[in-house]
Amino acid sequence: MRNTRDTQLLFELSKAGRRAVELPACDVPQEPIADLIPARLLATCDLPLPELTEPQLVRHYANLSTLNMSVDTHFYPLGSCTMKYNPKRNERLAALPGIVDLHPYQPDESLQGLLALLYGLQEMLSEIAGLDAVSLQPAAGAHGELTALMVAAAYFREQGERRTKILTPDSAHGTNPASASMCGFDAVTVNSTSAGFVDLEDLKQKLDDQVAVFMITNPNTLGLFDPYVRQIADLVHERGGLIYLDGANMNAILGVTRPGDFGTDMMHYNPHKTFSGPHGGGGPGAGPIAVTAQLEPYLPSPTIVKKGNGADACYQLDYDRPRSIGRVRSFFGNTGVLVRAYCYIMTHGPDGLRRVAENAVLNANYLLSRLQPLLPVPHGPRCAHEFVATALTLKQQRGVTAMDVVKRLLDFGYHAPTVYFPLTVKEAIMVEPTETESKETLDAFAETLRQIVDEPPETLHAAPLMTPVSRPDEVAAARKPVLRWREAEQPSQVEG
Ligand SMILES: *Cc1c(COP(=O)(O)O)cnc(C)c1O
Repeated sequence: MRNTRDTQLLFELSKAGRRAVELPACDVPQEPIADLIPARLLATCDLPLPELTEPQLVRHYANLSTLNMSVDTHFYPLGSCTMKYNPKRNERLAALPGIVDLHPYQPDESLQGLLALLYGLQEMLSEIAGLDAVSLQPAAGAHGELTALMVAAAYFREQGERRTKILTPDSAHGTNPASASMCGFDAVTVNSTSAGFVDLEDLKQKLDDQVAVFMITNPNTLGLFDPYVRQIADLVHERGGLIYLDGANMNAILGVTRPGDFGTDMMHYNPHKTFSGPHGGGGPGAGPIAVTAQLEPYLPSPTIVKKGNGADACYQLDYDRPRSIGRVRSFFGNTGVLVRAYCYIMTHGPDGLRRVAENAVLNANYLLSRLQPLLPVPHGPRCAHEFVATALTLKQQRGVTAMDVVKRLLDFGYHAPTVYFPLTVKEAIMVEPTETESKETLDAFAETLRQIVDEPPETLHAAPLMTPVSRPDEVAAARKPVLRWREAEQPSQVEG
């Protein structure tokens, strides 16, 4: 139950004369300092700062911190985003003084521990991908896409080829066509079949010698592993194009199959998704890319290389990369996220990583079968690590939208799933439970959704009813005050 008074502004709580700290009286003369600074530079304004006691301040911020949802406090079935639990052990390791107290301008010799760790991560990511070389520089998945497309552009330039198009399936994440455009290519959409896979006939029609790259997500955003992926790769390769794998869904296939084995030439990872780096609220993330040997010369500079072996081994930053696209990120990339990924992979080991994927897929299928009777899953009855349900029937029969359903989930303490994505499913509700949730959590979530779909449409249109802010981006919000706590004391609405 939440007391909405706690969300009052500090200015509203202010009472003249209150203080959180009291400083001793100044015991040095002040005037001479004022004399040294020209009068025009001295502040004269009297800032109306709030005046509060320390407990008021602490409660204000402590309460504010509970108004949001997080993986530590709530189930977060945000499809495509892989919001799995972030093990505290990785936080502790990433915060060790030997990591956080380094300065990026230190000489390589004094950074051997960190360089060894990052080199080890490169090697592991290369093995998991089934590809030859890795760059850790890109700062997010989308940045990895852009970087890899720049690598592809450099490769084709050196081949003396001018290819202008990038193909993306209609179920692709918006970052795919966006990265293509940012890199100066024309993004061309390839349709899906009604079964949710890449339409091979449409692909053949759109595939010509102008196509540089086909960007595929596999399993795709419908949570389906495309069984024709090998055939797709062959078709693209026959025309001289490259296959890019959007690796955001690696959680489904870790240790089960390797993108390189099904024809991928380059891919990105989202360590903040697959390898449990904390995310949400915009990052920081990371977007390491893995590529085949033929694309390796074009990777960003510098890369981390190992010289010598055994006791003589040392690690260096290699800037001698004349064909490289250059730097895409300062220093070593978002090191903190990369260290957590390293810890996560080392903790699980090869068999553990495979079990991560198996349990992610098991959890998703369990939840799919529990939700299917309430919200149909058009591309069921089985899925990989996530599935896309639809509220279309609910909308047609009772006027209740996907948005209404997921907004109501907030009132019951669940983060809302992704909605209206992928665009190929109407009234889409995209659910990814991840492997870190228990059966009890999944059951309770399914039971809550069962209650919600039977609630009166008016309740659902107005949801969420118990959060301090309702729907700031909705037309409905224009009709009623957005900040509920401003609506003079409404106990009926704030009981939760
Ligand atoms: C999250 C995601 C991306 C983008 O990754 P960021 O790290 O958020 O930039 C790309 N594709 C898919 C399928 C994703 O889920």
